[in-house]
Amino acid sequence: MPTALAVSPHLDDAVFSAGGTLAHLAGAGWGVTMATVFSASVRQPKGFALACQLDKGLPADADYMALRRDEDRAAASHLGIDEPVHLPFREAPHRGYGSAPELFAGLRPDDRIELNLADAFETLFRELRPDLILAPQAVGGHVDHVQVVRAIRAARPSAAVLWWRDYPYTVRHAEPQEPLRQTFAHCPGYEIRFDSTCEDRKAAACAAYTTQIGFQFGGAAQLEERLRDEGAVERFRLEGRLDVDLPPDARRP
Ligand SMILES: [Zn+2]
Repeated sequence: MPTALAVSPHLDDAVFSAGGTLAHLAGAGWGVTMATVFSASVRQPKGFALACQLDKGLPADADYMALRRDEDRAAASHLGIDEPVHLPFREAPHRGYGSAPELFAGLRPDDRIELNLADAFETLFRELRPDLILAPQAVGGHVDHVQVVRAIRAARPSAAVLWWRDYPYTVRHAEPQEPLRQTFAHCPGYEIRFDSTCEDRKAAACAAYTTQIGFQFGGAAQLEERLRDEGAVERFRLEGRLDVDLPPDARRP
């Protein structure tokens, strides 16, 4: 059976943006792996990095990323996909980005992590040999998402890529920033519809990221409502030639 690899910047992005599709592929017998890039634990965080942990209601000495990796394992199991992969890169607040606005204000000149990411992605693609890659478009402009897009392109994957629209950034502003809009201009739109079972799996998987739900959505009930607004469809841009058939219901618009 074919295999798919979802490259998630943070512990939650792939599920929020493409969880229904991942459950749909797994349900059709595909091997599906989710690899999260910025999932390294950082001991004794300081400044803005520490604030990002404290504002989730966690004490300073908690291993914040270990909790989130556990949430990610639970999410993968709700989707019915393989045990997730966690790459040991540090999130932007540990790389010199000093405030929430800075996370969305373009790359720092000293943030060269793209090169390391591209190396790691080349290895991952070589080892997993996915037939299909799913990855972010960096809608919203978060610097970590932008670096993931740049590094995936630098790693020159041989498989087709379905670039997802980054939820919830897609709905947070009427016109979210899309710093890489030009990059995807040549890629046709592609939408994947899934059934209510996959919709339920996605909702359960999203809810598993308990440390993030309050901050991102205001609470579990609001998350549920927002997901209902999205419906049982996810929209992508397709780059490269799809050498495998996607399961029924998946289709170009
Ligand atoms: Zn993210």
